[in-house]
Amino acid sequence: MTKKEWFSLAILAAVLIFAVYRYHNRLFTETRTKVMMGTLVEVSLTSSQRGINTLIDSTFAVIADYESRLSYYDDNSELWSINNAETDSIAISEDVYNLLVIADRYYQKTSGKYDVTISPLVDLWHQGRTTMPPPDSIAAAKALVGFDRLRFSPDYLIMPSEMSIDFGSIAKGYIIDRAAEYALSQGVSYGHINAGGDIRIFGDASRAQRIGIRHPREPNRIIATLLLSDTAVVTSGDYERYFEVDGVRYHHIINPLTGYPVDGVFSVTVIAPNATAADVISTSLFVMEPEEAIDLVKSIPDAEAIIYYLDDNDIMSLRTEGIRAYLD
Ligand code: ADP
Ligand code: MG
Repeated sequence: MTKKEWFSLAILAAVLIFAVYRYHNRLFTETRTKVMMGTLVEVSLTSSQRGINTLIDSTFAVIADYESRLSYYDDNSELWSINNAETDSIAISEDVYNLLVIADRYYQKTSGKYDVTISPLVDLWHQGRTTMPPPDSIAAAKALVGFDRLRFSPDYLIMPSEMSIDFGSIAKGYIIDRAAEYALSQGVSYGHINAGGDIRIFGDASRAQRIGIRHPREPNRIIATLLLSDTAVVTSGDYERYFEVDGVRYHHIINPLTGYPVDGVFSVTVIAPNATAADVISTSLFVMEPEEAIDLVKSIPDAEAIIYYLDDNDIMSLRTEGIRAYLD
């Protein structure tokens, strides 16, 4: 063979090796959405294995299973049995125990403003109301709220039978974390789960994603963009679920100390290593004064936040120093 022929052969071999390498390392991505947990849930998975569609199905099944156990409204759920038990002493699962431990921590950190026994007030200020609840109903509901009246151990919860628990502020985060862990355990390279603004991005940390924070009053505008990988980001907003009475907007995050929906905070976006933490922190900060909320998040390792709030008719923001690193 001539020198030229050797050279051509070498190039051909290199191209073949490269093609085989690419074939073995090829990645399949699938993204699907489903209405679950009262919102639109998007699951996106990328894997070198075929059959990613089946994996998306089983990831949705993990979410459905947790939802059926932790739902406040489903009368087959564990939470429903706990809330409707006739005795004060109730057996609980490991998941409920885990959530109670976190709920307790944030009840303490917020001096009682984050409280998962908020349900009588949430039920009172339900969506679709056209009138204000009468003051005596607010007082009566408020009297049934107070996490410090619960006692619990890994197996049992002791709760006065007239009280109840609503994990609406944390369950979505907890559930998408479990679903992300499941997908990773099945060998996916990377992916994300977005449950109506509760987002968990997992796997390969070199795959960054752009996440827009919605302008609190202009639905089609993005007010800030974050560049994130292998982390979680959750936004609590006053624009997601609300109703108006005489032109005043009331929404679904309630200050248990006043009995009224929080006024003056538009949205709180929190970045944390997992969605459970980001979810509980975003609701906690929402109920606090913006300055004290920023002080609280500064004391939590690996958590960052941006808060948009109303000040003198203007939209103002407060943020942690560390969030700059994620702003795009
Ligand atoms: P979203 O459900 O819109 O994503 P959040 O995670 O902030 O928003 O949770 C809001 C839910 O938290 C409410 O629908 C209600 O069930 C519950 N909640 C409302 N106020 C409080 C509070 N002060 N402490 C704990 N949970 C609350
Ligand atoms: Mg939350």
